[in-house]
Amino acid sequence: MNIRETYSSFREKLFNGDESVESRVSEHLAVIDSRKSLNAFLSVFNDEASLRARAIDEKIKQGTAGPLAGMVIAVKDVLCMDGKVTTCGSKMLENYQAIYDATVIQKLRDADVVFIGKTNMDEFAMGSSGENSAYGATKHPMDESRVPGGSSSGSCVAVAAGMSTASLGTDTGGSIRQPAGLCGIVGLKPTYGRVSRYGLVAFASSFDQIGPFTNSTKDAARILQVIAGKDELDSTCADVAVPDYLNAIDGKMKGKKIGLPKEYFSDALNPEIRSVLQKKIDLLLHAGAEIVEVSLPNSEYTISTYYILATAEASSNLARYDGARYGFRSPNVKDLQSMFVRSRSEGFGREVKRRIMLGTYVLSSGYYDAYYRKAQQVRRLIQNDFINAFQQVDCILTPIAPTTAFKLGEKMDDPLQMYLNDIYTVSANLAGIPGLCVPAGADSNGLPIGIQILGKQFDETTIFNVGDFLETVN
Ligand code: GLN
Repeated sequence: MNIRETYSSFREKLFNGDESVESRVSEHLAVIDSRKSLNAFLSVFNDEASLRARAIDEKIKQGTAGPLAGMVIAVKDVLCMDGKVTTCGSKMLENYQAIYDATVIQKLRDADVVFIGKTNMDEFAMGSSGENSAYGATKHPMDESRVPGGSSSGSCVAVAAGMSTASLGTDTGGSIRQPAGLCGIVGLKPTYGRVSRYGLVAFASSFDQIGPFTNSTKDAARILQVIAGKDELDSTCADVAVPDYLNAIDGKMKGKKIGLPKEYFSDALNPEIRSVLQKKIDLLLHAGAEIVEVSLPNSEYTISTYYILATAEASSNLARYDGARYGFRSPNVKDLQSMFVRSRSEGFGREVKRRIMLGTYVLSSGYYDAYYRKAQQVRRLIQNDFINAFQQVDCILTPIAPTTAFKLGEKMDDPLQMYLNDIYTVSANLAGIPGLCVPAGADSNGLPIGIQILGKQFDETTIFNVGDFLETVN
């Protein structure tokens, strides 16, 4: 059974009295149970979700239900929920119980969603395949010998396999958009500062954003409507008005200027991906959009810039897990020094340790100027590339990943190959702009191919509009 349905369609049935939240929750719980081999969840809130569903059914009857009434949501295990274990996919936080709700959780709770569980992920959100979790790899729902993408692997699979109506992920360099593309669903990374990060365990604070996975662009718009906006608890969360996203989706493509970066559509692009994207581009042209070639001349530096800056920030953010202040403490210690060394050596996995070492190196005196400072300067150039391109166009279309879902283990021994998978996604995080991935088609094996729409800062409206169009025309 795969009960993949958009919230918009479920909501109609719910408010007609043809469906109940209680029965939908039990259907999702049954899928979670029958597809345990996907390893999508780290904890499931069986009884609590059912109880909450009944309470929301009651609110619907009384006409007091919130805007997302009965939406069943899974949460990446990097977001704090009061009283719930929050592992970040790491042994380091195996027993960490959050003592407060993240702002996004609070806002969704107030909108009457039902939280169904916490999802598996690459440790501390570092990875592109879902294989770096201390709790085992997450599997692709259409072919369990393949990866679903990462790092928000479980949240993506939850939606793609019908274990929840929507989910929350985080995107530091592509972790919402890339798995959405590999699994054939919708994933949104909002503008940096659009959504509060309060209660999100930090990986790279100047890149991280929280966003939804959904079965449609409209569902993503509904969720962003609720979670966006200023928050006193996060000083990087911007005081920018939140428009009415859903009503702004009007399907009009006539006169829209859409950019294709020539660096992203080079001869190196996989031919199957190119032809699927070309079909969508033709549909846009047919609907009256103008397609314009743009240039992002610093594209070749995005991966190296991202992996210098994100690891630098991570090495600083992860310093707090030392066996004393936070997290796992090794039982095999002789003195203070060995407590630090052993707790960190035993508590973190290989990829996290690689990143801490890389990040510490680029920040160390003597190398700071050559790596960290230089990368900050290049980040500015990459931001400028987008500012220039957006003077000519309303949004930009790109591939989402260089290949479709790859085999488990295929890139695990070659970190550079894994990092190169992020080639089309990290630029949005470097520039702080929003990115939406929607399904575009499939390769000859039937594996999903996604398309990415990048927008101007705080202009999620345009990417929702184009995303909704691309998702619905064929
Ligand atoms: N794949 C990228 C990385 O490993 C991005 C991860 C993310 O967005 N959290 O850093």
